Amino acid sequence: MKKECDLLVHHAQLMSCANMGVKYGLIENGAVACDAGKIIWIGNSDQCHAFKPKQSIDANGKVLTPALIDCHTHLVFAGSRANEFAMRLAGASYQEIAQAGGGILSTVQATRIASLDALVESACQRLAHLKSQGVLTVEIKSGYGLNVESELKMLKAAKVAGEKMKMTVKTTLLAAHAIPPEYQDNRAAYVSLICQEIIPHVAKNKLADAVDAFCEGIGFTYPETKQIFDAAARWGLPVKLHADQLSDLSGAGLVAEYGGLSADHVEYTSVNSIKKMAQSDTVATLLPYAYYALQETQKPPIDAFRKHGVNMAIATDCNPGTAPTTNLLQCLHMGCTQFGLTVEEALLGVTLNAAKALGIDGDKGSIEIGKDAELILWDTSEIADLVYWQGETPKNTILLAQ
Ligand SMILES: [Zn+2]
Repeated sequence: MKKECDLLVHHAQLMSCANMGVKYGLIENGAVACDAGKIIWIGNSDQCHAFKPKQSIDANGKVLTPALIDCHTHLVFAGSRANEFAMRLAGASYQEIAQAGGGILSTVQATRIASLDALVESACQRLAHLKSQGVLTVEIKSGYGLNVESELKMLKAAKVAGEKMKMTVKTTLLAAHAIPPEYQDNRAAYVSLICQEIIPHVAKNKLADAVDAFCEGIGFTYPETKQIFDAAARWGLPVKLHADQLSDLSGAGLVAEYGGLSADHVEYTSVNSIKKMAQSDTVATLLPYAYYALQETQKPPIDAFRKHGVNMAIATDCNPGTAPTTNLLQCLHMGCTQFGLTVEEALLGVTLNAAKALGIDGDKGSIEIGKDAELILWDTSEIADLVYWQGETPKNTILLAQ
């Protein structure tokens, strides 16, 4: 007797991202059966006759992947910084731009006065573009509110936008993004506001899945970051970090010491920190668009990550200042051309390793039995097309079994 199921996809170039002894975890002529939102069987198309599916799809040799994941974004924000781009090209320094009312604090100002609805609406547009590229899970950070009320408004906007777009949104509290103007002369008071009020409130109301900080000369110091991580740990929230982007402050090592999910940017990360990341399974999240937009020259230590077995993810870093993009596939291309990743490493960076960076690899990021049935069928039989071709997004179809 045949086993009933909701969805069967067969004759696919099935990029499972599992059993990595084979490149891409590829199953040639692969098939996958899904039921009640979960993957229930994977194998060769010749063996899938045991199923009686409600919907059967012949992939005709096309590429089938897990839905993609953008594991680092700041895509809830108001205002525009387009004028700063022109100012920078005309030779203005970061400081001159800030003095003219630009920089991150201009986004803070615009986000604080924006309504929840306006934030949701613009976030939905950005999510829609990601979704058109086969992305179904997105991490969204706060960090342009920098006070209790506005940080909460951002986290709420992220959640509502995710529900509206029928996408999974994981929220991250990034109150430690910058020192807000009203605390410029008393940074200790702001750090304690984060630790004593914002983190407890967010944890009690389950508004964030993780806590992040910007550990940098122009951000928060190593001891301040530690204080924030201690507060997150007290409230049972995992941590991640904007680490070693412009200088080596041992941020990646610090987040690893807390068993953190990911260290992000990591251009200046030392071998010592990399060893700690390997021990704690902390993912290195690479953000090639920000590297490009800032015209950085220090590349992340890819060879050392490989040597020590640190998993690498790739994300857009979508934000109005240093990464005005929702083009995740272009970021894959950049990860290969700028940082020397292989196509396989790039694709793992937006599937299984991105899921690890969000702590959701039990449910997402690969085509494996028991995981969520979120599949993307690409209109190509060449896996490398996802990374190689630029411009028009390769056509794709989202396949769900709900
Ligand atoms: Zn960021």
